[in-house]
Amino acid sequence: MIALEELLTGQGLDERNVAALALYGRLVLEANRHFNVTGARSPEEIARHITDSLSVVPYLREPYVDVGSGAGFPAIPVGIVTGMPVTLIEATQKKARLLESLLERLELQGVVIAERAEAAGHRPDLREHFATGTCRAVASAPAVAELLLPLIGIGGAAVLQRGSVDDRERSALEDASLMLGGSVEREDEIGGDRRIVLLRKQRATPGRFPRRTGAQKRPLCE
Ligand code: SAM
Repeated sequence: MIALEELLTGQGLDERNVAALALYGRLVLEANRHFNVTGARSPEEIARHITDSLSVVPYLREPYVDVGSGAGFPAIPVGIVTGMPVTLIEATQKKARLLESLLERLELQGVVIAERAEAAGHRPDLREHFATGTCRAVASAPAVAELLLPLIGIGGAAVLQRGSVDDRERSALEDASLMLGGSVEREDEIGGDRRIVLLRKQRATPGRFPRRTGAQKRPLCE
């Protein structure tokens, strides 16, 4: 089995970051033996998730929030390489507890909010508080916009990591973003079929969003 350090070397990361990212990857693989925290089962798959997580770094500013963090992708790799404090919103209590223990073991600054983004988005201490946010592998693009944009302050950005986006999804995302106080600013292809879609927050999100239920089951404009 190839060591995680070897898989992560040669990506412009310094030795300290490679060591910390590899430790993170091993802790996730270990946790996966006890409960199903991520579909990634091998060092190669973990390394791919870490590399994909780091693709958002150039787009991020503090304060930074990640919604639906699961095992911590992308927020924990982001925290490791940038030193930025991370706010992780995760609905599954068991995963939220794992994230707390990962922050502690990796000596990262951050906080875990163990609740659904639909509730967190209405909390006065979190709503429109963040300069940037991510939400990887959680839902369709319009659903992600509804979970993330209420948390982003005016002038800030929601940074979406997506695979291919077809015309229907793009048009639903554009319409949903407008309803939520944002707009699609740009789409950057970052290799393979991966792309970053940047939503800019331009006006306050209307108070009825995020809807308490249905953001994922009945995404806006889909
Ligand atoms: N972001 C991680 C990644 O890229 O590997 C995890 C992706 S996992 C498929 C989706 C995670 O989002 C799960 O851990 C789930 O519990 C969480 N989640 C889904 N909907 C959520 C919501 N509305 N609010 C908070 N967490 C949510």
